Amino acid sequence: MVSEEKKKRPRSSEASKSGRMDSNHRYPAPKAGAIAARRRPGQRGDCSVKEESASIASQKNIWKILDGHYPERISFLPVVSPFRFLVTVMLSASTTDKQAAEAAEKLFSVYPDPQAIASADVSSIEALIHKAGLSKAKSKNIKAMSAIVAESGIPETMEGLQKLPGVGEKTAACYVSEILGKNAVIADTHFVRVAMRIGFTDTVDRAASAREIRERFDESLWTRISMVLNLHGRTCCKPKPLCTECPVSALCPSSGCATGQS
Ligand code: SF4
Repeated sequence: MVSEEKKKRPRSSEASKSGRMDSNHRYPAPKAGAIAARRRPGQRGDCSVKEESASIASQKNIWKILDGHYPERISFLPVVSPFRFLVTVMLSASTTDKQAAEAAEKLFSVYPDPQAIASADVSSIEALIHKAGLSKAKSKNIKAMSAIVAESGIPETMEGLQKLPGVGEKTAACYVSEILGKNAVIADTHFVRVAMRIGFTDTVDRAASAREIRERFDESLWTRISMVLNLHGRTCCKPKPLCTECPVSALCPSSGCATGQS
């Protein structure tokens, strides 16, 4: 059954376009004690969730509000070409998107394609991407990845992408959602923090957090949930959350957690 609201706003099945909670939502009933038992009080950026508040109904309402609060189109990194995007996402590990984009710009100004990067000295790549941090490891991975892509092209599945050097689950998910238009859960640090605070997940482990979202929400929502929670974590639900400015403060089980107001 599709809601009237959804009928009025026809969108494709892609989460980045749909993004509405509907009958596809399949969040299971929280297991008694499970959420409270798995949380680690006092953990950096974590506010313990009151289990009684983390009901399915409130989660649906939280999602509806957050979904409507943020723009339909959310992106954090520039897309010049699929290969450049993949490299930029690799560079974004443990640094800001701005630093990653600037490092990518510098790298591509000297080595414009996979063939050129594959033939370059690692030390030269390292110097060009230095500001993105972890440049030793990133330069080796980018060179090795470029050699494979120069030979065989960029894989088009999560599994294939994750076989490339330096490409983990988050990088692969970014690529398939942004470049291939498929749905994927992108579990970065912001996403994991917010998802747990609002009761969508009960873990700070990225892979487990992504798995829980995949299990609990329909695939058509995966990318949209990822982008909305990520943006909410950057702008409002920061490590020290701005609960008084938050659109879901009345429903969030962690509201006021950083100030002891909850
Ligand atoms: S109410 Fe506070 S903890 Fe909850 S989502 Fe908003 S900012 Fe985060």
